[in-house]
Amino acid sequence: MSGLFDRWRGGQLATHEPSLPQAVGLQLWLDEQARVLRLSGPLRTLLALPTQREARVHDYLEPHSWLVLEGEPGDWQGQPLDLDFRTVLGHALNTRGWLLRHAEGWLLQLFDIGDLLRAGVQGGQLQAQQLLATQLGQALRDCGEERLCEALGEQLRRLATHWRLEAVRLMLHEASGWRSLASSDDEWPWAEDARLHPWLVSLPGEGVVDARQLPELLALCGGLSLFLVPYLHGQAVQVWLLCAGGSTLPTAEEAQPLLQALAEPLLARHRQRQLLRQARHLDELQRQLGAGWWEWPLHGPLQLDPTLAANLGLPCQPSTEQWLERLHPADRENAQMALQQAREGQGLNLSLRLLEDDSLGAPRWLHWVGQLQGCQLRGFLLDISALKAQEQQAGAARARLENLIASSPAVIYIQRYAEGALHSEFFSASLMPLLGWPAESELARQPGLAVHPDDRPLWLARTRSLLRDGQVRCRYRLRDQRGGYHWVLDEARLLRNDLGQPVEVVGLWLDVSEATEAAERVRQSEERYRVLVEDSPAMICRYRPDLSLVFGNRPLADHLECQPEQLAGVNLGQWMSDSQREAFLQRLATLTPEHPLSSAEICLDLPGREHAWWVWADRGLFDDEGRLLEIQAVGRDNTEVRRSQRQLLQGAKMATLGELATGLVHEINQPLNVMRMAVANTLKRLENGAADVDYLNDKLHRIEAQVERAARLVEHMRVFGRRSEVERQPFAAWSAVQGAVALLDEGLRSKGVTLRIEVPQETVLVLGHQDQLEQVLINLVVNARDALLGQALGEAWIAVHQQVEEEQVCLRVEDNGGGIDPRLLERIFEPFFTTKPAGVGTGLGLSVSHGIVEAMGGRLVAENFGAGACFTVTLPVYSTS
Ligand code: ADP
Repeated sequence: MSGLFDRWRGGQLATHEPSLPQAVGLQLWLDEQARVLRLSGPLRTLLALPTQREARVHDYLEPHSWLVLEGEPGDWQGQPLDLDFRTVLGHALNTRGWLLRHAEGWLLQLFDIGDLLRAGVQGGQLQAQQLLATQLGQALRDCGEERLCEALGEQLRRLATHWRLEAVRLMLHEASGWRSLASSDDEWPWAEDARLHPWLVSLPGEGVVDARQLPELLALCGGLSLFLVPYLHGQAVQVWLLCAGGSTLPTAEEAQPLLQALAEPLLARHRQRQLLRQARHLDELQRQLGAGWWEWPLHGPLQLDPTLAANLGLPCQPSTEQWLERLHPADRENAQMALQQAREGQGLNLSLRLLEDDSLGAPRWLHWVGQLQGCQLRGFLLDISALKAQEQQAGAARARLENLIASSPAVIYIQRYAEGALHSEFFSASLMPLLGWPAESELARQPGLAVHPDDRPLWLARTRSLLRDGQVRCRYRLRDQRGGYHWVLDEARLLRNDLGQPVEVVGLWLDVSEATEAAERVRQSEERYRVLVEDSPAMICRYRPDLSLVFGNRPLADHLECQPEQLAGVNLGQWMSDSQREAFLQRLATLTPEHPLSSAEICLDLPGREHAWWVWADRGLFDDEGRLLEIQAVGRDNTEVRRSQRQLLQGAKMATLGELATGLVHEINQPLNVMRMAVANTLKRLENGAADVDYLNDKLHRIEAQVERAARLVEHMRVFGRRSEVERQPFAAWSAVQGAVALLDEGLRSKGVTLRIEVPQETVLVLGHQDQLEQVLINLVVNARDALLGQALGEAWIAVHQQVEEEQVCLRVEDNGGGIDPRLLERIFEPFFTTKPAGVGTGLGLSVSHGIVEAMGGRLVAENFGAGACFTVTLPVYSTS
């Protein structure tokens, strides 16, 4: 440029009248007062023309240029003039030129030096920027790790001031995502970094991004201006600089060096930290694994990783001898040879045991791996003790399993799956003892051929369900080498590969012939018993302790007037009276595992029948703890027998009454005689007129007493003759004695037999039927009377008394009639046994009495005692008062 000026000035000075090319720069023709006469040159079109007429050159200039043009034009001559003109474009036109003299006045020749100036400014800015960049980088490099964040904040503040921004923030990309490192401002305008992160990933990493172009991003920033400067390391953006609240966007060329100055030291430190962390992790990992590196120069000592050396109890540079001595003697030679081969170029790869002080503990194993690289061997050592221990355990477990399989009574087999079929691949050694098939035999290859013809469908179904469901459990018969069949229980499972495709079947054959045959025998026996139970005429049932039926056969159902299948759940107790049910449950309560049996005659009130008497035998079934679970019972209908017994009893009663008839007639005659005498005497007195009121009153009371006596007797006979009640009732034992005495007393007296009655102090209640016990006592007294009448010796007496012993009451009937022939003592209770002449004795008295007493739960015992016989009725006491 200066060359151009000089040439131009040189030419100008030579000629008085300038002949300038009008196409260059700007020319202003001025008069002596610096008024502009004319404008020429291409730049003139840019000028903002003043509005006043006869404007001076000053009116064309920016105010700061007025100072340059002080005085008259003549004063400005001979020096370069830098003038800034106002333009229509808004910015100044920077020019440099000179004032020249010409004929009419002055010519101001000017050139545009805008570019020249800008280049200067830019140069200055570049320098300042480089300085700033150096300072930024230096600040971050110089500060300690702990001050890094603070220092970064300071530098970001400098940057914010430099670019006239409100806030600047630095985001670093790490493996875990974007991390905000620091901000120039504690109050960063957008708290929610996380919403910016997706943008940071998606934005192009080329040039500065202006958020005004991306309304959505701008919205995130609350409408503040934002531009983002990327810093690439390799292909990807490593750092984003977020600049908020600025009005001008820095160019990429401006922004990059500054960002680089910040990012480089940060990334370097970041990488260094990562490396350090990785190294620490590696060390820790090596320590945990018991692993470490080793190096062995061909001509030099072995070098060990310090951690590993400490772990092995060796120096970091052990001698070959030290290294070998550390190994188990059994492995030393092996190690030496392998090392030799490695030196010759072969790979080193072997497992070694260490020599341990404690020979009892499990040995420590090392895996020694290495390779010749250049002129030194390099590799690593790894502690594999845990693996070796597992290997040994697995080996031992496998050996045990194999032993178990070989000695198992079951045959273990494997069948391989191929193209939809299963092919035998392995049988355990127990195949031979079980089926006698050699492992390579045809049958072992195709077991299906040995399946019993009847079981072939089972075999085919087994294979099908195995492939479909993955497992199967079934039984079938297999033929052994000698042609006999064995029942085998087959349990098999299909194993599949990772894709779910079948690979093989692992299964087990267990010889269950004995169990199956036993089960079959049990089934047949059960069938026989079932038939027995169902066809039995006896009632058979099972019921729970609450009397609900579990099962009942047809005879039971027939008695209960329903179908056998309706019996389950029916409660037996519903047909019993309260006292019967209570007695029944009490009897069940006495069953124990040691004494599980009990029997009784039970009375049921069945629909449509008066009463049913069943002879019932129970057997209790108990669990392990002795709890009664269920009762099996067998019953027989005893109603007919009962009815006959009752009829017999009634007959016997009637017979007794008949027998007593003579005595009774006498008994009734007595009051009649008394009454007749009283009536006769009274009539006589009336005829004599001597019957006064007192006399008559006395006689009538006597007659009334005799009527009552006769009526009582007749009533008692009536009651005695009535049929017994079905249910037993409690009654006073002595009242039966009194009843019997009432009927017999007079008859005995008339025959000269004395009745000695000892009236007891206490009243003892027994359970049963009073008329029946009365009949027993009548029988005993009548027998005693008969014995006495046959004797005709001295005083004949019959004594009756009661005795209470613990829970029992005894009624004794004694006589002095000479007793019973000891040879007959055993037979007197037999029915129809009598020593009395035909037509007198029936031989039923004692047998019936025995039955009655037994039904009441008591005993009737006869013995000779003193001068006669003694019959004792012993009964259980119901209650005393
Ligand atoms: P019956 O009185 O009709 O003979 P029982 O059964 O009552 O029938 O008696 C059977 C037998 O027992 C009698 O025939 C008699 O020989 C004997 N007997 C019963 N009681 C006595 C007694 N008190 N003293 C002697 N013998 C007796």
